[in-house]
Amino acid sequence: MAGPRRTKIVATIGPACDEPGVLERVLAAGVDVARLNASHGGIADLARRLAAIRAWAKAAGRVVGVLLDLPGPKLRVGDMAEGTVLSEGSEFVLSAGSGSGDAAHACVSWDGLAADVSAGDRILLDDGSLELRVLSAEDGDVVTRVVRGGALGSHKGVNVPGVSLRIDGVTPHDLELLAWGLDAGVDLVAQSFVRSAGDVERLRAAMGERLVPIVAKVEKYEALADLDGIVAAADAVMVARGDLAVETSPESVPPAQRHIVETCRAAGRPVVVATQMLESMTHAPSPTRAEASDVATAVFEGADAVMLSEETAIGEFPAEAVATMDRVCRAAEESGPSVPIPAGEAAAGSPVAAAAFALARDTGARVIVTATQSGATARAVASLRPQQPVLAVTPHASVAGALAVVWGVACAVGPATHTIEETTRSAVDAVRRLGFAGAGERVVLTAGTTTGVIGSTDLVRVITL
Ligand code: PGA
Ligand code: MN
Repeated sequence: MAGPRRTKIVATIGPACDEPGVLERVLAAGVDVARLNASHGGIADLARRLAAIRAWAKAAGRVVGVLLDLPGPKLRVGDMAEGTVLSEGSEFVLSAGSGSGDAAHACVSWDGLAADVSAGDRILLDDGSLELRVLSAEDGDVVTRVVRGGALGSHKGVNVPGVSLRIDGVTPHDLELLAWGLDAGVDLVAQSFVRSAGDVERLRAAMGERLVPIVAKVEKYEALADLDGIVAAADAVMVARGDLAVETSPESVPPAQRHIVETCRAAGRPVVVATQMLESMTHAPSPTRAEASDVATAVFEGADAVMLSEETAIGEFPAEAVATMDRVCRAAEESGPSVPIPAGEAAAGSPVAAAAFALARDTGARVIVTATQSGATARAVASLRPQQPVLAVTPHASVAGALAVVWGVACAVGPATHTIEETTRSAVDAVRRLGFAGAGERVVLTAGTTTGVIGSTDLVRVITL
């Protein structure tokens, strides 16, 4: 059988999806996780799109995870006068505040910049298209020389590569958005500009009792230095190549991607490769060869998911971009398994997952079905990259939503069960209903004999339907 696609697709839902009928076409083309980017638009936009995603998924009987992407401590310039152009060689001053800017001066959204930079530092504007060199920094003003000029629009990003800024990793604005997201019931939260495991821990602490899995975005050079800590602290990781390229260099990104994916795979942490994957499809109905290769490379490296940003958020061909990504992933997967990781390492944390993996391989089972409360067993099995699909059956829609980002895991939301017999019946029903196996075929089941308790998976069984 032509099995399901194993690599997951994350698509950013933005203004392009607000046109009538577009969101439906985008989601139906194969989106596993819908990303709401809180850096653009207000809470009203996020709420409206979330409601539309939930409505479509319910009607279509599909699991679509919702990821709320928090802006984090990204520095931006304030309002800029229409048509502002910075010319090479001129002086340009950045100062704290919120007034409007012009060709000689701009305000920055954080008042600590002058204290943290010094003469000679490089400052990049608008994703690195403009470059400044610091001449002096005192009394809250950063005086710079324009090294590479150009047009500067309102609210463009400010990056200071190689300088550790003493800015809070979780901003008051992040906390407001998080509070909304927790109330609205998003399935995953992405944290931007993470620098250390401590940043991830601070966001988790802010969640209180309502824990939602955290996707740590690796896009600062400091994050590469604390990668092991971040991978351990977070629930998943995103290779956020856009800002990472600005903070380091374009040539640093492919080796960093490979290293981050390997580190996550060895730790059994889901990892998403993001940004500019099918960039040209923002304005064209088909991708470049280089873009198809880029997506395939992420698949070959063993990423759990690949992501679309502007392609679906503001692009002219959002549904075509998802369909293209789906086809490229399938073709890459069909060409053979990705580079293996030492199974022993990833399996060490979950003997049950290792047993299920081995049993499925040795009995010719069609599917590994995990009856799961938290999703942990499904994640552990998937991290071993079994040949068979993994079907997670859970009573919690939020657990299904979070598993949507994990390689190879299909999800079914079933009824709450009270005995191991009920759990088994519900799991087998889901296998049949979703067509993962039929009469006479084998299934490997993992479940907990103490039902309804997180961390109680203690049974692995082969069942012949
Ligand atoms: P962004 O993150 O789209 O929120 O900036 C991704 C990236 O920087 O690559
Ligand atoms: Mn970013």
